[in-house]
Amino acid sequence: MAESIFVTKSFMPPQDEYIAQLNKIWENNILTNRGPLTIELEEKLRKYLAIENIIITNNGTIPLQIALKKFGNSGEIITTPFSYIATSSSIVWEGCKPVYVDIHPDYLTINENEIENAITTKTTAILATHVFGNPCNVDLIGKIANKHNLFVIYDAAHCFGVKLNGSSIFNYGDISTCSFHATKLFHTGEGGALFFKESSFYDELFYAHNFGHDGPLDFFGLGINGKISELNSAMGLSVLPHMQNIVEERQKIVIYYDENIIGYRKFKLRENTDWNFSYYPIIFDSETQLLKVQKKMNEMNIFPRRYFYPSLNTINYLSGQDMPISESISKRILCLPLYVGLLEKELEKIISILRK
Ligand SMILES: *Cc1c(COP(=O)(O)O)cnc(C)c1O
Repeated sequence: MAESIFVTKSFMPPQDEYIAQLNKIWENNILTNRGPLTIELEEKLRKYLAIENIIITNNGTIPLQIALKKFGNSGEIITTPFSYIATSSSIVWEGCKPVYVDIHPDYLTINENEIENAITTKTTAILATHVFGNPCNVDLIGKIANKHNLFVIYDAAHCFGVKLNGSSIFNYGDISTCSFHATKLFHTGEGGALFFKESSFYDELFYAHNFGHDGPLDFFGLGINGKISELNSAMGLSVLPHMQNIVEERQKIVIYYDENIIGYRKFKLRENTDWNFSYYPIIFDSETQLLKVQKKMNEMNIFPRRYFYPSLNTINYLSGQDMPISESISKRILCLPLYVGLLEKELEKIISILRK
């Protein structure tokens, strides 16, 4: 039987390269607490991404929580219903209240024109997702935030390597977060990061990710354990040299899909974006049609994923606000397999199902 095809497949660096990194851990006898591999990975990422400040963390959710702890102040957070659950659950976990604003039907990011209507005296921050690596309207969101004295946090989990106007997307907003989870474009197995331009935030955010420790006996303030392990940083150091190849291979698949998939709607890429080929979602006319295609694919051992379903506002512990566009899109959107090593004959199989 043919091997199953999933929506993604983690990039595995050559094993000898990972072992060479592990050998350093055995020499150092340091497994965590910001050992030399973590510091090396941070330095390499700072250069690779051309960003100012980075703090690597143990996943992509902790940075959202740290950002919300700093900027949320138990208030109302304006956010998008079309994202992964972590975007909303972090808000609730940090004792804040998510207030949804519907998405733009073409870009699929938060509809910036409706943000002002949702602002109240309790609003403290905007938490928006650059979904599928497609940037939000950062200029307008920045203006709105300035006018109303709000902080802007971007969930940039999908955005490794994305540039807007020639600059890393992580440079926008007060804080951006990324995920280095095994399913993401660049990964450390589990991992993530905080990015921010304002260097005066550094100490507070850095201490926050390490229990608040300021030396072994003193404490800067409240903190949590957001530290990455050296084993995970070793994986990052082994994957990073392959990034150009990873992006190029994915681009080829995206071009193939673009040329061969006809009659399905796709999201509109924000102007002046250098995209990272992170996801390939297609939008069906109806959920019935989506379910039919999904069933056919599953029968052939192909497992696309319904990113993102359901619309977050409809989840039991969340708001119940109506978000017609997000609810409609999330019922009709399906992410197709996209990873290094996906074969042309497998792509042909996927496309032939879509054509029928
Ligand atoms: C993956 C993801 C996260 C969470 O990242 P983890 O590293 O799995 O904690 C947060 N937000 C979005 C949009 C994601 O896709």
